[in-house]
Amino acid sequence: MRRVAVLTAGCSALAVLVGLGAGRAYFSAPSAPTAAASAELTTGAIATRWPTPASEAPKSPAPPIQPVVAKEPATMPAPAPVPGPAQQACNNPNALGISRTVEIDTTGGPGLGLSQYRDYDFLEPGEVALTFDDGPWPVNTPAVLTALANECVKAVFFPIGKHSSWHPAILKQVVAAGHTVGSHTWSHVNLAIKPFAEAKTEIEKGISGTVLAAGQPTSPFFRFPQLRQTPELKAYLGERNIATFSIDIDSEDFRIHKPEQLISGVMTKLKKAGKGIILMHDFQKSTAQALPELLSQLKAGGYKVVFITAKDRVTTLPEYDAQVQPAQQPTASNARPINSVIRTVSGAK
Ligand SMILES: [Zn+2]
Repeated sequence: MRRVAVLTAGCSALAVLVGLGAGRAYFSAPSAPTAAASAELTTGAIATRWPTPASEAPKSPAPPIQPVVAKEPATMPAPAPVPGPAQQACNNPNALGISRTVEIDTTGGPGLGLSQYRDYDFLEPGEVALTFDDGPWPVNTPAVLTALANECVKAVFFPIGKHSSWHPAILKQVVAAGHTVGSHTWSHVNLAIKPFAEAKTEIEKGISGTVLAAGQPTSPFFRFPQLRQTPELKAYLGERNIATFSIDIDSEDFRIHKPEQLISGVMTKLKKAGKGIILMHDFQKSTAQALPELLSQLKAGGYKVVFITAKDRVTTLPEYDAQVQPAQQPTASNARPINSVIRTVSGAK
């Protein structure tokens, strides 16, 4: 039904047209999850490891949500300078580096990742794209950022809205490093078993919360928790012009805790598949520990990293922006100066 040029090479003027057969983008995972999808299901237990929001609430109010922006980057006022790969110097002459950057036109909400969406097979043999879900998280996310920076590579992050609200400074580090930031719901629930309205709220609060924490509009990229989608939700994301990301290679870092096993598992799957979008979690300590060596082995294996970016910025909906605002202290009755409200009436001041 749609025939759009979805991917264009970001570092050249040459458009790579892969918009073939966009109509068969739906894959209903709940009834027949793929091996990768079922493997990711166990990450649903993430909620049990959450601290209470009150104890993790940000100390200072997060910056205001940027105005809704739906223009192309060339014409939109840049809310904050985001250094792209071409602007950031790579000081490691032996770094893995980025071999090419692709830009996704998310009009109509294309699906990417061959385990669920077969239409846009844009990676060449030997190419990988790195993706990290479930952050931002203390220690682990900064460690992932350091490993990526040391090898001069960039990745796509799918943060959880709640995590972003607890750790906005860490998400800002991800943005400042020039990575692509999408979203991954507000609280990482399985949307496929939720009523549509509730699932929509999860998606939208996830977007609003991520944008709020990032301090600027992020990319219109979304990944379903546990890769569990429904045709209705996929269609909704299409209306919102948000691309849905599945995966090709599952690191299974949620269950593999020894870095060497994690690395060998990814490399074995990659050798078999020959290329792919790799799913990892910057939330996971195992990935934070394994990433330097994994990147080293990718380079040694001759793999090339493709950096995925978006043509446009995501738009947020005001209704959900309001829902993710930090609780404001009531100030209306505190307008009088302190010395007219409170004075010392006995003893030393
Ligand atoms: Zn997840």
